[in-house]
Amino acid sequence: ALHLSGLAKCFDTTPVFQEIEADIAHGEFITLLGPSGCGKSTLLRAIAGLTLLDQGRIRVGGDDITYLPPQRRGVGMVFQHYALFPNMTVAGNVAFGLRMQRVEAGERARRVEEVVRLVELTDQAHKFPQQLSGGQRQRVALARALVVEPRVLLMDEPLSALDARIRRHLRDQIREIQRSLGLTTLFVTHDQEEALLISDRVFLMHQGRILQQASAETLYSRPVDKAAAGFMGHYN
Ligand code: ATP
Ligand code: MG
Repeated sequence: ALHLSGLAKCFDTTPVFQEIEADIAHGEFITLLGPSGCGKSTLLRAIAGLTLLDQGRIRVGGDDITYLPPQRRGVGMVFQHYALFPNMTVAGNVAFGLRMQRVEAGERARRVEEVVRLVELTDQAHKFPQQLSGGQRQRVALARALVVEPRVLLMDEPLSALDARIRRHLRDQIREIQRSLGLTTLFVTHDQEEALLISDRVFLMHQGRILQQASAETLYSRPVDKAAAGFMGHYN
């Protein structure tokens, strides 16, 4: 469902990522795993249309979205640090994207209610972001991404600001929701354990390139090279 071909991006003359090739199936959960600075966030932002590519094509389904503005890509994004509107309630935050799309009020209320229920925030819908825990805020961010019914969901370290117990719980919840919606997902983390537990396949990224795309088992048993082996905890 998500097809990346020949993606490349430089800041000034420094390459951030290059030769990115990937085919992600409909409903697949992919984790992009790699050390700090390897280009994960920039790649996600490029797919979302928040930063321009120097080269390459992005297709979703059969559609080339490379040159579409962010709001017309059918791509939802969740960031590490919530990015919620502080002066709007949970329901207001979630409704925002639908208001931008001029979805009519009745339909808007119905969809907000449905997605707020999906992330288990019905009882908090009238609260403001500063009245919520970190985990609840990330669930609002997820609801906000989901309410516009994206074809692809991008998540940039959505769990890394949370403490361990909440992180595990929300990790499982994200996976459950993603499965129930059959949503094609690209999730970023630099936490190896998280990557192995949540994904169908892991893309190992290093210095702007994807070294290997494989299941957790394969990454462990057959790392493609020393860098991949090192990152998976085989030191030799
Ligand atoms: P982290 O795990 O720390 O979030 P990352 O893999 O998400 O790292 P990116 O944020 O994509 O890494 O950054 C990749 C490289 O691009 C880094 O060397 C960074 O300094 C550089 N970079 C990112 N944004 C810009 C920018 N706006 N201008 C110049 N260089 C940038
Ligand atoms: Mg990042």
